[in-house]
Amino acid sequence: MNNLIKGKKHKWEAVIGLEVHAQVKSKSKLFSSSSTKFGSIPNSQVSLVDAAMPGMLPVINEYCIKQAIKTGLGLNAKINKFSVFDRKNYFYADLPQGYQISQYLNPIIGNGSIFIDLNEEKTKEIRITRLHLEQDAGKSLHDQNPEKTYVDLNRSGIALMEIVSEPDMRSPEEAALFIQKLRSILMYLNTCDGNMQEGSLRADVNISIRKPGDKLGTRCEIKNLNSIKFIKQAINFEITRQIDIVEKGGVITQNTLLFDTDSGITRPMRNKEEAHDYRYFPDPDLLPLRLDDKFINEIKKEIPELPDERKKRYINDLNLSNYDSTILISNKNVSDYFDEVLINHKDLKKSAKIVVNWISSELFSILKKNNLNIINSPISPNNLGHLIKLILSETISGKIAKEIFEEMFISKTSPDKIIKDKGLKQMNNDNDLEEIIDKILKSNSDKVKEYKNGKTKLLGFFVGQVMKESKGRANPKKINQLLNKQLN
Ligand code: ADP
Ligand code: MG
Repeated sequence: MNNLIKGKKHKWEAVIGLEVHAQVKSKSKLFSSSSTKFGSIPNSQVSLVDAAMPGMLPVINEYCIKQAIKTGLGLNAKINKFSVFDRKNYFYADLPQGYQISQYLNPIIGNGSIFIDLNEEKTKEIRITRLHLEQDAGKSLHDQNPEKTYVDLNRSGIALMEIVSEPDMRSPEEAALFIQKLRSILMYLNTCDGNMQEGSLRADVNISIRKPGDKLGTRCEIKNLNSIKFIKQAINFEITRQIDIVEKGGVITQNTLLFDTDSGITRPMRNKEEAHDYRYFPDPDLLPLRLDDKFINEIKKEIPELPDERKKRYINDLNLSNYDSTILISNKNVSDYFDEVLINHKDLKKSAKIVVNWISSELFSILKKNNLNIINSPISPNNLGHLIKLILSETISGKIAKEIFEEMFISKTSPDKIIKDKGLKQMNNDNDLEEIIDKILKSNSDKVKEYKNGKTKLLGFFVGQVMKESKGRANPKKINQLLNKQLN
């Protein structure tokens, strides 16, 4: 893939690195037992620790530590047995402590990596620099009162994992693939719910440009992007902006930017907000975190099959294409549904491709039409498997199967029951079919004559008439055979 961008004077290469904030999936906060539930009444989930009352003492939530380690293992990363919580000092209305507890020089997770699929053949490694744990801040609400800003501290103290990549991406598409893959791994691990709309996963994007082969250029950082679409838009805008400046003889100054999603442009944050000297120092209320092998090994045992392994299994064991496998694994729920079909119907393993087709066409489209997630599918994996087997055994035709499928969606029952109730079984019996064929040929004797005079295209017409007469139940293969026999 050639990622060079033509400016007016030169060809340029973009260099991109991401800092992703992923909210740890945990019922309680990083240093308190308050709930992390989303969308609750403002300030209803705030303990004395979260509100930074004098004398409060943070207590580490072991579950959040486990989640971070699990994530590190899923990113093939080094688990640091010694890590430190630091205070990152700054003043902001939604940060009552006056500092955020974070990790600076000694993060819990070190170097790791993620592989992204550039196309069917090519994968690329994106290196992970580190992952550290930190507290989220509260939220300032500017839209509740024209004269006042309100502060909601429900989010204050919720555990975040900041996952930092090396500047290894070279295009907006690669950045999108990276965040998609990271999101998918987190969701397989169940360490983050991946909900970008609710802000559980958001990214700061660092971008610079250079002439190919040159050393890294000066970067700008776009803060807090919460959708893949915005990430791509913001990067595209920023690349063009930087090329423009440099080609006009200017220089890029390192800057922190905000992306305006309405106008699609980036603009600098107010300088006051970005000129930080955080004066990091180890939090005296928290001891350094020391992990032993036993603790880490126990967590290793809980690592499930991850997307890359699953994909390999689909390709090697089920003979699925790279394309089909990618459709399945990119959403864990879809992949789980598919696996469930095959667990219930082992004999469908050799027809895995047909199962994928039913899921990715019929099931996806009916779920979408009804605004449903696959985990709430009225058609169970077991029943879908049954339906597919009925088609493969020619008990029903593909066309009837689609009717039954829609009925299954409404009634949530098994295909067998629907077939029995509605008399939809495929007609395979030669005598019954010949009876219908006779009738059709008799009432279309003029067309039969034309056929015999060489207009063989009419075969399709006869097949259609027989299908219609049988209300779609006739086995089309059989009709063709029998018609051919009768007409020739
Ligand atoms: P800071 O902690 O000050 O934000 P880091 O050096 O940790 O700075 O880098 C933050 C992010 O910026 C990382 O994701 C890294 O990959 C990315 N980055 C660093 N240098 C560049 C560059 N020249 N161009 C694009 N991205 C970069
Ligand atoms: Mg940064």
